[in-house]
Amino acid sequence: MSSAVVVSSENLDGQQQSSSTPVIPAAENKVNLLGMSRPELEKFFEDIGEKKFRAGQVMKWIHQYFVTDFAEMTNISGKLRAKLEQICEIKAPEVVHRHYSKDGTRKWVFRVGEGAGSLVETVLIPAEDKTGLRKTLCISSQVGCALDCSFCSTGKQGFQRDLTPDEIIGQLWMANYSYMEEVPVAERERSVTNVVMMGMGEPLLNYDAVLSSMQIMLDDFAYGMSKRRVTLSTSGVVPKIDQLAKDIDVALAISLHAPNDELRNELVPINKKYPLAQLIAACQRYIAKDGNESTRKHVTIEYVMLEGVNDQPEHAQQMIKLLKNLPSKINLIPFNPFPHAPYGRSSRNRIISFQKTLSDAGFVCTIRQTRGDDIDAACGQLVGQVADRTRRAEQWQKKVTQRQEILRTQG
Ligand code: SF4
Repeated sequence: MSSAVVVSSENLDGQQQSSSTPVIPAAENKVNLLGMSRPELEKFFEDIGEKKFRAGQVMKWIHQYFVTDFAEMTNISGKLRAKLEQICEIKAPEVVHRHYSKDGTRKWVFRVGEGAGSLVETVLIPAEDKTGLRKTLCISSQVGCALDCSFCSTGKQGFQRDLTPDEIIGQLWMANYSYMEEVPVAERERSVTNVVMMGMGEPLLNYDAVLSSMQIMLDDFAYGMSKRRVTLSTSGVVPKIDQLAKDIDVALAISLHAPNDELRNELVPINKKYPLAQLIAACQRYIAKDGNESTRKHVTIEYVMLEGVNDQPEHAQQMIKLLKNLPSKINLIPFNPFPHAPYGRSSRNRIISFQKTLSDAGFVCTIRQTRGDDIDAACGQLVGQVADRTRRAEQWQKKVTQRQEILRTQG
């Protein structure tokens, strides 16, 4: 049997590109090896009476050649392959929808449980830079999110559950596999160059699974990604930023979105628990942990540009003050409006003027190119057709009305 992937014929929005390929039947109690880090896999092999070096061999087949059938692992004895076939499986989450945009952006919706709400999204955005073609994958870490940032469509779905390591790494596996599906196994290679943990959910609130997944991303026996190319983006779970600094060396991004506590309390409510002074201090500690490492030379600051809300000249001045002692690169993100969003996107001129103020003050400040608009793809604002199963839709509508009222009175 060739490497197979589970793709349902269900299509959420009637667009083309969903397709069906052979489904791997899985016995209920088989162990899924996809999300195991090397130490976990080594222990697994020892536990079944095998040498632990088998872990590295199997990891390469899974994460570098995208093989899901043990029969194709030709450097492993037939006896061991038969044993593995019996007791384990390599199974990515079920794809219920996929769409490839004209500009190269790709998007997948995965089912990770029962019911309409058990869906997560993954988006791949290609871009040319001086190092060549970058393919950046925006990965989800939770089904829904408990943090309820007011500009985020994931927040309004509420929190369902944490993703498991195989569901997290499965997104990276699937994105790579999508380029290699038709390529003979021996010629397969890894296509995704960058990962941002910036999809649905707050990654630091699913800490262990995210950490384990990032270890697989960096492992030379798996994806072998450069630590500079793996970025964890958080809305500001301060104690876990300190924990992360101890556990792994990856790039850090902060979803800032507001330069003062009053506004950030409204846009990113976790700010009430960990206000800006604490957050900036945690970022400084993260960098100080190993200032010589290229990943830790700066923190990326993400700032979504919301018309009339956080895009005024005084906000740019407050940013300058807030970030003056934090080595940082600022990424301004034009808001990607979605149905019932209580905000609009700042005008191009407003964004450019905001950028100029920050650049003139000495910050590296870029504007994120909007990509994949034809498939609603934007990291951090994953919208899609995920069912809205909570009562938050009503609260959302209330916020829309309030916001419209404020904008009207401001003229
Ligand atoms: S922006 Fe991130 S942390 Fe905030 S609600 Fe959305 S997914 Fe959660």
